[in-house]
Amino acid sequence: MKKLYFLLPLVFLACKSNPSAGGINESKSVSKPIEITYKVKENEVSNFLKYLSSDELEGRETGTKGIEKAAVFLEDFFKKNNIKPYFATYRDTLTNFKAPAFNIVGVLEGTDPILKKEFVVLSAHYDHIGIEKKQQPDVIYNGANDDASGVTAVAQMAKYFSETKSNKRSILFVFFAGEEKGLLGSKSLVQKLKKQNFNLYTQLNIEMIGVPMKRDYLAYVTGFDKSNMAEKINEYTGKKTIGFLPKEAEYKLFYRSDNYSFYDVFKKPCQSISTFDFENFEFYHHVSDEFKVMDIPHMTSFIQEFLPVVTKIATTPTEEITMNK
Ligand SMILES: [Zn+2]
Repeated sequence: MKKLYFLLPLVFLACKSNPSAGGINESKSVSKPIEITYKVKENEVSNFLKYLSSDELEGRETGTKGIEKAAVFLEDFFKKNNIKPYFATYRDTLTNFKAPAFNIVGVLEGTDPILKKEFVVLSAHYDHIGIEKKQQPDVIYNGANDDASGVTAVAQMAKYFSETKSNKRSILFVFFAGEEKGLLGSKSLVQKLKKQNFNLYTQLNIEMIGVPMKRDYLAYVTGFDKSNMAEKINEYTGKKTIGFLPKEAEYKLFYRSDNYSFYDVFKKPCQSISTFDFENFEFYHHVSDEFKVMDIPHMTSFIQEFLPVVTKIATTPTEEITMNK
């Protein structure tokens, strides 16, 4: 997540309404959740996240040797899992950053001749903030939660869809660079896609899912009331997967990650999904955001819970997730 500045005095609104998360009983056209027998494996989640957040990658700052290692690792993952490059190669060079920097973009074509022209974007940023310039014992910002955790989730989903071919729509898997520099990777990519008349349905951007919240729902979407995404996700899982987190609205998180670049250009439901609620993790943009404080069983079950969600999104006959008027 792009740096947050907690400088504004907090204004507490006494009568702030708390929109419901759209319980499963509220929608008239409720469809049965899809049963998925495939099991996401904890050891794969763990190994992937461990390497991506290791000291060897030096905090993955955009334009450095460390992030180059991450890029190679992600390209290899796509190759191994039969995800094709969307452009000529997996690398999409940023047009707005001085040093060479790349988004890593893969695609899995949909199985339906008509629906495959529509795209679902699953994304996360693989860059982080690098190495602390001041001397202290641990100088590497490993960014395990921010956002190696999201990258891990997107990678596991890519693997799943590549194996099962259960997507009628095409899925674009994107690992952004330059997020921490100001959403640069997504801003650069979205211009290219727009020029190609890219047919975007929706974007799920996964941000900081390494630690569970102590709430009666699994995760929140940023920009909760901008679309019916929360309601549809809950319908697709048959439970309260998504709830409303007042702080996401207060801090305007919708505008603070790569979903916003896509929304800004396409005006489609493009939102981030997160389990970081400002109470469950004290190492945001801190050198202690490390692999050892990540909750692997939580991440694994998060990914598992989203497999039927993405399956539904990628297969419904019509685009059910829509912007609110
Ligand atoms: Zn961040």
